[in-house]
Amino acid sequence: MATAAETAVTVIRNPASGEEVGRVPRNGPAEAAEVVARAREAFPGWWQTPAARRGAIVRAGAEAVLAQRDELALQLTLEQGKPLREARIEITRFVHTIEHYAGLAKSLRGGYVPNLDQNAHGLVLKRPLGVVVAIVPWNFPTTLLGNKLGPALVCGNTIVAKPAESTPLTTLRIAEIMRDAGLPDGVFQVITGKGSVLGEPLVTDPAVAKVAFTGSTPVGKHVAELAARGVKRVTLELGGSDPMIVLDDADVDGAVSAASVGRFFNCGQACLAVKRLYVHERIADEFVEKLQGKVAKLKLGAGTAEGTLLGPLHSEEQRETLEEQVSATLDRGGELLRGGRRPDGDEYANGWFYEPTLILEPPHDSKLSVEEVFGPALPIWKVGGLDEALERANASQFGLGSSVWTRDLTAATVAAERLEAGYTWINSGQIIYDELPFGGVGESGLGKEHGNEALDYYQESKAVVVKQSPRP
Ligand code: NDP
Repeated sequence: MATAAETAVTVIRNPASGEEVGRVPRNGPAEAAEVVARAREAFPGWWQTPAARRGAIVRAGAEAVLAQRDELALQLTLEQGKPLREARIEITRFVHTIEHYAGLAKSLRGGYVPNLDQNAHGLVLKRPLGVVVAIVPWNFPTTLLGNKLGPALVCGNTIVAKPAESTPLTTLRIAEIMRDAGLPDGVFQVITGKGSVLGEPLVTDPAVAKVAFTGSTPVGKHVAELAARGVKRVTLELGGSDPMIVLDDADVDGAVSAASVGRFFNCGQACLAVKRLYVHERIADEFVEKLQGKVAKLKLGAGTAEGTLLGPLHSEEQRETLEEQVSATLDRGGELLRGGRRPDGDEYANGWFYEPTLILEPPHDSKLSVEEVFGPALPIWKVGGLDEALERANASQFGLGSSVWTRDLTAATVAAERLEAGYTWINSGQIIYDELPFGGVGESGLGKEHGNEALDYYQESKAVVVKQSPRP
């Protein structure tokens, strides 16, 4: 007889139309225990596979994913809502990250400490942790998986991925493609279902050594508490409210583009989106006018429609939250420059669309300023100079990304030093590089992804003392 979990399914719907695009099993604790057991079983064999071979297998998996990019991008658009162009970028980014870590496989190193003592030396072994659970949200289902998958596999861990309940399809297909390309059974598995049901059994399973979580700050704290029961390793990539500062000597056109892409890419549903904009009062009018012109060109539509630049929000709940944040803010003050409403038209009637929104000078303690805003609404404030901008920018519990636009090297350096964030871009859009460590401070997270640093979060350093025995 089928169990309740076996018969339960989650229906995945297109955020642009509400149409069904797939069904997946809604698994429960018993299935969570089974996948973890399979991952545990696969671990010794994967660890003992020579690192160069692991790298080659992982690279072959990435190449196979790239070969299916268009199929995967369409799948991603249908379940997530983003424009096809952005979905293709996302799949390509996933592949780049996996290839980056595959390339580092042959560089994994331990240490050697000579003359530790009389006739003694020390070794530092680098050992994989074991089974890693990766919990991933719906906004970038594949890149946020890739950030965990690449370093975890290359270091010799096995991994169980738990995609968001509403975006499992592309992840399932990627796992299938990588398995067909040579990843051994049990090394990379995906379990579908609700985080509120699967989270606890996955995180607290004694066979799980580490949890890599990306998602909201409250759920991240809960995951960290669960992991603490078993003293497990955790990385947390959480929410953000990134400030962007534009000084009066900035390249205005470049900064306007960065603000528009930074806020409206992925319909504003990015941890690293530009969520608060501080513009020097001397250039504010010019800047705001140009930004309005840019935003006017953002064509709303289904992700699959030709020319769409702004898709729907991912869910009804996301749109309701955004609407509440915008209206509560406007009730308190601020000038609505554009947007602030759902678009008119039959093509938008069944999706979670919302117009790109700009609001000038809302109160500094309003929701758009103090909460994370996960949608296409940007508050803009005028500032008198760098000191005021930095003070405002740092007045947040979050500390993920930040950016500053200026031609003044001293001002840029001061900003980079004083911005309380894990990343600062100077005269650059908010692009993540595999070469550099990424991770938040404050309520934005714990630990690093990307860079060589990520490898430290998937390996344990073990000390060995070797003393020469006297000859008999
Ligand atoms: P959630 O925290 O609600 O969900 C994230 C993941 O956690 C999903 O897979 C979800 O599963 C799972 N989850 C939910 N409840 C639990 C639980 N009790 N135990 C374990 N896992 C659980 O975040 P959102 O879906 O709202 O995602 C958006 C958030 O992610 C934003 O705050 C954003 O800033 C952040 N984010 C951070 C990034 C970073 O790198 N710092 C990057 C991208 C996003 P299910 O879907 O089944 O509920």
